[in-house]
Amino acid sequence: MSFADLLRVTPGTTPDLEAIDPDGTPGFDGDKDAGHEALKPLRVELADFQERLWAESRESLLIVLQALDAGGKDGVIRKVVSAFNPQGTRVTGYGVPTEEELRHDYLWRIHANAPGHGRIGVFNRSHYEDVLVVRVNELVPESVWRQRYDQINDFEAHLAANGTRIVKFYLHISRDEQRRRFRKRLDNPEKNWKWSSGDLETRSKWDDFQSAYTDALARCSTDVAPWFIVPADRKWYRDLAVAGVLAETARDMNPRWPVIDEDLSAIVIPE
Ligand code: AMP
Ligand code: MG
Repeated sequence: MSFADLLRVTPGTTPDLEAIDPDGTPGFDGDKDAGHEALKPLRVELADFQERLWAESRESLLIVLQALDAGGKDGVIRKVVSAFNPQGTRVTGYGVPTEEELRHDYLWRIHANAPGHGRIGVFNRSHYEDVLVVRVNELVPESVWRQRYDQINDFEAHLAANGTRIVKFYLHISRDEQRRRFRKRLDNPEKNWKWSSGDLETRSKWDDFQSAYTDALARCSTDVAPWFIVPADRKWYRDLAVAGVLAETARDMNPRWPVIDEDLSAIVIPE
């Protein structure tokens, strides 16, 4: 079975996050070295896809990355998204909304960064924060965030109907692995900058976040914008699985080199 088939959250079902092993490697039997080798041809394939997507300029691809702190979103951008030509790719990170953003609806800043035709957009965090951290930290009343699942599904369906292919990844790490990664951030001077004092507060609400993620994954995995749950304790597997799902998406989208009507062979280039 393909990575996409193994990792996709079937629309209408509720995933059991506790039953999914963050240390697992579904769909791949090899070790770390084999995983690194398997990633290489996928990166070549993704680069080729991106060039055809750009040349054809008919559809867009939107990649959503969500995870708890230290879940590996930045790693996926470095190791997988880097396969794409930066000229046609834009990564947008979403932090605490600015004053101006808070004066608009929560999808305003999201829609503004949706990729145009021929482009790839990558969201490092996304509108899902508005049903995750916003829900867990009670930043708006429940009656407000409850409505957002339907609103998000409508919004994503709207983008899809207008030529944007959407794939969403939840990078699933264990409590232990998050602890190890936090420790590295604290112990390694080159990683200190990644540490944020809020990370411990978020960690203390681990179970609330798991519930909030479960609802987001269950309610917002749709045919046009599926969620994929990627076991992410092993970085090499995480990268391989994300690249694998993207390559399958690329094959399915299959953008074509534009065919030029004119007889180009008849064009004479002056010396
Ligand atoms: P980082 O990704 O480490 O740079 O952190 C960004 C921070 O912004 C995280 O703590 C997120 O939870 C927070 N954040 C992102 N979107 C929202 C939002 N809509 N409302 C409140 N906090 C948010
Ligand atoms: Mg952080």
